[in-house]
Amino acid sequence: MAFEKADKIWMNGKYVNWDEAKVHVLTHALHYGSAIFEGIRSYQTKTSPAIFRLEDHLKRLYDSCKIYRMTIPYSMDDLKKAIVELIKINKLEDCYIRPLVYRGYHHLGVDPTSCPIEVSIAVYKWGKYLENTTACVSTWFRIAPNTLPSMAKCAANYMNSQLIKLEAREHGYGEGIALDVSGHVSEGSGENIFIVRDSTLITPPYGASILPGVTRNTVITLALEMGYKVIEENIPREALYIANEVFFTGTAAEISPVTSIDKVKIGCGEPGPLTSKIRDKYNKLVRDEEEDKHKWLTLVK
Ligand code: PMP
Repeated sequence: MAFEKADKIWMNGKYVNWDEAKVHVLTHALHYGSAIFEGIRSYQTKTSPAIFRLEDHLKRLYDSCKIYRMTIPYSMDDLKKAIVELIKINKLEDCYIRPLVYRGYHHLGVDPTSCPIEVSIAVYKWGKYLENTTACVSTWFRIAPNTLPSMAKCAANYMNSQLIKLEAREHGYGEGIALDVSGHVSEGSGENIFIVRDSTLITPPYGASILPGVTRNTVITLALEMGYKVIEENIPREALYIANEVFFTGTAAEISPVTSIDKVKIGCGEPGPLTSKIRDKYNKLVRDEEEDKHKWLTLVK
């Protein structure tokens, strides 16, 4: 689906018109994948739009940049204010927020140090990314430790994600599930994964080459508060097929039930009861219809 254009994009401290937010073709990031980004959602509530877990997403942005020795020339507070202001200027309610930090135009070569660190933030309307979905186990593995760091949300990692997604689509599935190099379940192309067995939620640990998802953390927190047991441990592939329920989590995907994997029906082939309960709770929380006891919402006022 094409972009629904907003009015302004924030680029290096300035609000520029959507169609003028451009870069040079010799921008370092275009050639060598040297960009870090975030994906954040804002939801309309009774009173105003509210950004979900803004600080946690920004924390991950700074952490990802630290891994790649990229110093962001703005404080976290500057970026927070810019995001709030940008939503206001563009008069958006439900929207997706895409901060991007990238190595810009100066010189091409693998050594990136002479290229400036540029920052942009775009906000735009974006509906559902995934809903109830079928999935397959990908023939592509997730990036191995000591190759590309999976804890960094780096643009380069998404070439691996694209292979996983393209393969799934070519075979008629909604999403692909990648294994890590040791053969354990890792994650989807752009989502973390949970399985449910006997009212216990199980999700792969950081060591399984996953991105530490903000939604993953939200689900773990909510599930524990709801009295469920949550385990972070290595999941063998076959555990997917015999799980009572499986779901993906992500800012874009939110909570997306997986109804079949490799054509094997999961549970009764419908969103399971525990997935549905957690999804309802999540949907209420992001719209400020539940007490925000963790202070996860930033109201856009
Ligand atoms: N894994 C990958 C590879 C992703 O791209 C995403 C989306 N950012 C996630 C997991 C989920 O992360 P979050 O819940 O923070 O959006």
